[in-house]
Amino acid sequence: MGTVDAVVVGAGVVGLAVARELALRGREVWVLEAEDAIGTQTSSRNSEVIHAGLYYQAGSLKGRLCVAGKALLYDYCAVRGIAHRRCGKLIVATTEAEIGQLEALIARAAAIGVTDLVRLEGTHAQALEPALSCVAAVLSPSTGIVDSHGLMSALQGDLENAGGLVALRAPLISAHLEDSAFLLQVGGADPIELRARTLINSAGLGAVALARAIAGLDAGLIPPAYLAKGNYYALAVRAPFSRLVYPVPQAAGLGVHLTLDLAGQARFGPDVEWIEEIHYRVDPARSDAFYASIRQYWPELPDNSLVPAYSGIRPKIQAPAEPARDFMIQGPAAHGTPGLVNLFGIESPGLTACLALGSHVADLIAAP
Ligand SMILES: Cc1cc2nc3c(=O)[nH]c(=O)nc-3n(C[C@H](O)[C@H](O)[C@H](O)COP(=O)(O)OP(=O)(O)OC[C@H]3O[C@@H](n4cnc5c(N)ncnc54)[C@H](O)[C@@H]3O)c2cc1C
Repeated sequence: MGTVDAVVVGAGVVGLAVARELALRGREVWVLEAEDAIGTQTSSRNSEVIHAGLYYQAGSLKGRLCVAGKALLYDYCAVRGIAHRRCGKLIVATTEAEIGQLEALIARAAAIGVTDLVRLEGTHAQALEPALSCVAAVLSPSTGIVDSHGLMSALQGDLENAGGLVALRAPLISAHLEDSAFLLQVGGADPIELRARTLINSAGLGAVALARAIAGLDAGLIPPAYLAKGNYYALAVRAPFSRLVYPVPQAAGLGVHLTLDLAGQARFGPDVEWIEEIHYRVDPARSDAFYASIRQYWPELPDNSLVPAYSGIRPKIQAPAEPARDFMIQGPAAHGTPGLVNLFGIESPGLTACLALGSHVADLIAAP
């Protein structure tokens, strides 16, 4: 039976960032990934936005790790030559009634240390983006976009240069503690058993199921799992925008917003569709509701210009009607099992926060 110092489950952007951090701190690290490539799940099915951290509560992990992670990520992209662009983002009020929400957004952002927001009158916003229709806006200059695949390749490269490895087609089936090490049952075509002193459950949509398969873990600490799919529709014409454009936040999410990829392709979404089982189909009919929302801030959106693109699934830990929850990251202090960290509910801004999440998790393991 093989023995390894630390095992990270899941080669998404968060698992890779955690593994890289542990390896850079001198740990021997293996990443176990169920699929046949890194980053095929949520990490490659998102908006690729480097979030400024506008929407999170002061004191929350999401807020703290987003703001810290954004700075780390911009630096990392620059040093490692990862494609990215600090394009900025406008959050727009399209009615007088929405202006109060912009003011609230500025105040909430300031409370978590985002102090670079610029309040704009509608005419000033239109001077920046002439196709826009709005009565007021907030400019977030530090919002950007990043090549998520380039980022994950760089993280994997750092991990491997520090002596770590990624094992593909290696699903972790179950684990139990034996003589102060985890005994891991790894499935796939050639199932094996492994021993590991440290186990990091960074399995994304599979994290709750995996935690239930770790013998001895208090089931009362494991949150429920819900799936909230977000569907994207690509714009079939060239977008007349150079910044991201978001409406004021809506009850169920950030609203139907415009994001751009590094090639300039515009897409709208993601919406929120609660589903029972994982699937990534995008229903063309759901775009019907997008047109009215988008035309509130871009009246010239052409008819029939939205085409189904792709979808991603948020690993929610609260039911549809419940308030949004923070990232739930449980280390030994939370569950009493030495060497184990479970990451639950790592939805947005997990991509932005990945490097800060890596340090946070490594610190939990290092703590006495
Ligand atoms: C629609 C959408 C839009 C988003 N937009 C943004 C954005 O613009 N900016 C931002 O910062 N964040 C965004 N996010 C959030 C971000 O994408 C995620 O937080 C991040 O990708 C999570 O990474 P992860 O590594 O935790 O999960 P994943 O990428 O899902 O990786 C988990 C991995 O674990 C593997 N796995 C699961 N179970 C097992 C097992 N038992 N054994 C081995 N391997 C296993 C899976 O195959 C998978 O590869 C968005 C999310 C969604 C859904």
